[in-house]
Amino acid sequence: MGMALIRLRVNSDKEFIDNEDLSQIELADLKTISTLGIGGFGRVNLVKHVDSDKVFALKILNKAHVKKMNQQDHVLNERNILAACRNDFIVRLHRSFRDSERLYMLMEYCPGGEVWAMLRNWGRFDEQTARFYCAAALEAFDYLHRHFIIYRDLKPENMLLDKNGIPKLADFGFAKCLKSESGRTFTFCGTAEYVAPEIILNKGQSLGVDLWALGIFMYELISGT
Ligand code: ADP
Repeated sequence: MGMALIRLRVNSDKEFIDNEDLSQIELADLKTISTLGIGGFGRVNLVKHVDSDKVFALKILNKAHVKKMNQQDHVLNERNILAACRNDFIVRLHRSFRDSERLYMLMEYCPGGEVWAMLRNWGRFDEQTARFYCAAALEAFDYLHRHFIIYRDLKPENMLLDKNGIPKLADFGFAKCLKSESGRTFTFCGTAEYVAPEIILNKGQSLGVDLWALGIFMYELISGT
């Protein structure tokens, strides 16, 4: 995958250095600055920790809405998987909270926004740029697949850019941990254009569906469609 990948191989999961102890942060210590976006089940706010002045993205999900749409399992998967992931190409989930009405996920803030917005502005990427984002997705998949996790929703909307322009996979609503490398799952989910044939044919999906999506992703970045 070329030089971009080699340069970006700053930490493997074993070496991931996490010297920020954010386990003490409480919801009451977070001040809302603005809304970053509206998601399927709530919103994502930009928040500031009043003691340290650090900023984060706080994803807020409405419990009743999640329940009504029967998405409890997906939300729980997202929280559990993201909380366990330590990889430079996956957005970091620092803490989660809940109250009687909402669930909260305190995440690393990615000020560069979505790769989708960049693609829309540029029309399409040259090969070198596309290779860079594909390499980041591949690094994230390499990490996830080693832990038998399928992601199932690769698309430019779900790749965010951190403050250094490093691409990170976000939105783990469809991610799932399989029992083994060859484990299968049957739920139909994903985004139409990115869905692998075995999902449409209901034959059971395994880690390979992410690599199918990576091919579509590569095509979309280069062609703009
Ligand atoms: P959806 O439910 O539509 O898949 P999300 O709830 O994950 O989306 O995100 C809603 C919006 O907030 C999106 O526009 C996304 O780009 C933005 N967003 C999500 N997470 C972050 C983050 N960590 N940093 C910056 N923006 C984010």
